[in-house]
Amino acid sequence: MNIQNIGVIGAGQMGNGIAHVFAQAGFPVLLQDLTEAFARMGLATIEKNLQRGVDKGKLSAEDKAAVLGRVQLTTRLEDLSACDIVIEAATEKWEVKKQLFETLDSVCKPGAILASNTSSISITKLAAVTQRPGSFIGMHFMNPVPVMQLIEVIRGLATDDATFDAVMALAAKLGKTPIPCNDFPGFVSNRVLLPMINEAIYALYEGVATAESIDGIMKLGMNHPMGPLTLADFIGLDTCLFILNVLHEGLGDPKYRPCPLLIKYVDAGWLGRKSGRGFYVYSKA
Ligand code: NAD
Repeated sequence: MNIQNIGVIGAGQMGNGIAHVFAQAGFPVLLQDLTEAFARMGLATIEKNLQRGVDKGKLSAEDKAAVLGRVQLTTRLEDLSACDIVIEAATEKWEVKKQLFETLDSVCKPGAILASNTSSISITKLAAVTQRPGSFIGMHFMNPVPVMQLIEVIRGLATDDATFDAVMALAAKLGKTPIPCNDFPGFVSNRVLLPMINEAIYALYEGVATAESIDGIMKLGMNHPMGPLTLADFIGLDTCLFILNVLHEGLGDPKYRPCPLLIKYVDAGWLGRKSGRGFYVYSKA
């Protein structure tokens, strides 16, 4: 399968990162979002991140311009009809993704691969809203996309070998390391990570230690680059709660029960870095 033209849906935090790494690897990318303003914001972030590379002497100004020149913007899904693969990185809501994939299935050419960057929604269930479940797969990039090495490649129940092989090869062309897993709630990354974060929140809730102590112990003791509460603030506490609920409902085991303190913080609008307050307080600068 010769994959050349890349479509990316959603120009937010993940979508602009995905467009960035494909364009940097030489692929033409069509980046779609709901409004022109959202799409332009995504492109501005790519520009800013590339400029950082220029400032550090890792990228020439010509290369930066060439990468940016490979990213086209659109608000119309129909424009993605010539893409060989479309990677969806829109908001983590079932209804949003369901509607997107129904439309993409009807506008994309036969044989085009449809991929989702979802953190927690079933790949098998998303594939089933299309007429091409064999060509459907999960490509779970890590945040920040230009920096992180892993792509978790998730096979839905119906994903065929040709699609899987093509996506593994494509991920390698990005200079990333694709690692496969099967489609179960939370895949591997979030199934292992979120219970650790949840347990750290329980430790805070039960007064085992302060947030600083919990993070310090996990950082220095386990050699983690950041403590679990700092990481939760970085991911977003609403996202953490959403994924824990997916694990709890999908696997039915009480060990995934979200900590009441996490629920309370989300109810209060304390969502971590993005809202300026979570387990820590952040200046908005
Ligand atoms: P985000 O809120 O930064 O961006 C989402 C973008 O999707 C926005 O620009 C929004 O305008 C756009 N969008 C919403 N509905 C749309 C539609 N119908 N059509 C086109 N665009 C639409 O969110 P994000 O953090 O980039 O997350 C995107 C996806 O990536 C989610 O599925 C999320 O679970 C997944 N993900 C996130 C992370 C992370 O750390 N943030 C990591 C891995 C995977």
